[in-house]
Amino acid sequence: MEHLDRLFLTPATRAELWDRLTAMIENYVTTVPGAPVSSRVGPERLRSRLAGLDFRQGMPPLDALEMAAEGLWGLQVHTPHPRYFGLFNPAPAIMGVAADALVAAFNPQLAAWSHSPWAVEVEQHLARAFTGRFGYDPAEADGTFCSGGAEANHTAVLAALSHTFPDFDRGGVRALPAQPIMYVSTEAHHSLLKAARLCGLGTEAVRPVGVDARLGLDPDALADRLRRDREAGLAPFMITATAGTTSAGAVDPITSLADLARRRNLWLHVDAAWGGAAALVPELRPLLEGIERADSITFDLHKWLSAPMGASLCLTRHPEILGKVFRFTTDYMPREASAAGTPDPYGHSMQWSRRFIGLKVFLTLAVAGWDGLAAAVRHMTAMGARLRRELDKAGWEAVNPTRLPVVCFVDTRTSTGRSLEYLQAVADHVVAAGAAWISTTRLRGDTPALRACITNYRTGIPDLEALVSALEDARRRLA
Ligand SMILES: *Cc1c(COP(=O)(O)O)cnc(C)c1O
Repeated sequence: MEHLDRLFLTPATRAELWDRLTAMIENYVTTVPGAPVSSRVGPERLRSRLAGLDFRQGMPPLDALEMAAEGLWGLQVHTPHPRYFGLFNPAPAIMGVAADALVAAFNPQLAAWSHSPWAVEVEQHLARAFTGRFGYDPAEADGTFCSGGAEANHTAVLAALSHTFPDFDRGGVRALPAQPIMYVSTEAHHSLLKAARLCGLGTEAVRPVGVDARLGLDPDALADRLRRDREAGLAPFMITATAGTTSAGAVDPITSLADLARRRNLWLHVDAAWGGAAALVPELRPLLEGIERADSITFDLHKWLSAPMGASLCLTRHPEILGKVFRFTTDYMPREASAAGTPDPYGHSMQWSRRFIGLKVFLTLAVAGWDGLAAAVRHMTAMGARLRRELDKAGWEAVNPTRLPVVCFVDTRTSTGRSLEYLQAVADHVVAAGAAWISTTRLRGDTPALRACITNYRTGIPDLEALVSALEDARRRLA
């Protein structure tokens, strides 16, 4: 049984390994704020390090652990760093980290209720709790945990197709009477295009509609486009409103889009992958007005709610629809779920064998409470507002009007301060110095800007000041 010592390790080695592992994690979370936010290593150096490993001989477990920690420490953008002003990736809440470790060890199977009733009930309880936060009636609504917003958006497109076209489930797109069309704003997330492709609709089924000065979808332009598509014999079926766009934190006018969707009998999806957390904070909740009228909602826990990667929800106010899209019966799966009154996750989701995604959210919420999560969201929002003011004082101009903590900005103190070339050079300089992580984007596809998002509940005023000073440094060097 030589393999036992290699896979299960000996009791003495396990004891050492756990000690080392927890020490490493504690060391990482406490010292990362003092480290460079990212390192720049070329792919050749990276691959040459790995090339020496051919797996013909095993290595001591602690050495393997050190190897991984060294790689992660040295060769990644540290998204948990308080000066990572990046793409919605959070510093994970500590209870989420503990939950993920526990889940890996217990390895509950979330395909069927009968295998992991506690885990399935926890997820159902949580999904219902979140439906309530968005204004759905928890007794009527439903939801499923997903790997991320991309899967949640894909799930929503499938739900919309299945709801709108009764023959879709059996006949697929070939059974549809005309080309189905879905509407998004030009600022919407690319995962909706990917979903259209994965559903077999093709990306031409997605109509990007223009935005107004606040970067929100223009409902008049949408109404016009809808009319023309109907006249052309096409089959519109879905509108997606984005609540917190990825580039600029813009929120589409959900109420107007809900009115339009009802008049035209279309499925309304709200992609609130990031911005949905505003629902937890009373003074931000009005930004999401109308979201309770959505047929489905995407909400990522691994963004603004600080869950470790791999946690999202697709919520819907149609309690039957997920089953309609995903349910199959097999001879080899247990059937206790129907007796228990809780659906089997495999009949409710794209995934079959599935990780217990909900525990990291459950333990975080159990410890922090809604108030604790709201306080974190409120803090990050305040840091966003503060960053806007600091940038303004230093001669940078914010170009995205939003209350959410993402700032897109240009340089007003130089004649080239609005060009992508210059702004990219500024971002590159800040990132290369390891001082902070920021990026560039383009609003409306044509207005370049630097982009800084507060996405870490540990980010404080000194971190904002460090960013502004790194920007000033970049500006001086480029002058
Ligand atoms: C991040 C994001 C997505 C995709 O979610 P993942 O969790 O990264 O798969 C979709 N829509 C919006 C608006 C996002 O910000």
